Amino acid sequence: MSAPEKKKKVAVENSSAGAECRAELIFYARASSGEARPVEILGQYACDYRRPDWEHRWTEWNTRQNPYLHLFLCENHARALGLIGK
Ligand SMILES: [Zn+2]
Repeated sequence: MSAPEKKKKVAVENSSAGAECRAELIFYARASSGEARPVEILGQYACDYRRPDWEHRWTEWNTRQNPYLHLFLCENHARALGLIGK
């Protein structure tokens, strides 16, 4: 008897940063102007970029509407967003 071959259905969305990205940096919202200084994350957090409400979070953070909102991002996405130097 031969076991039927299992075909794995891969449903991975194309992403240049890979299917999984782990947050490596925290970007604190800053009320005052100035560069955002990221803080390294010690722990396991998913990158905020992959969250369903990412666009909302980004808009809030970017326009400083919410001073309590912090972004958890992987380096790739932080760089892509221009938050850290290239
Ligand atoms: Zn990411």
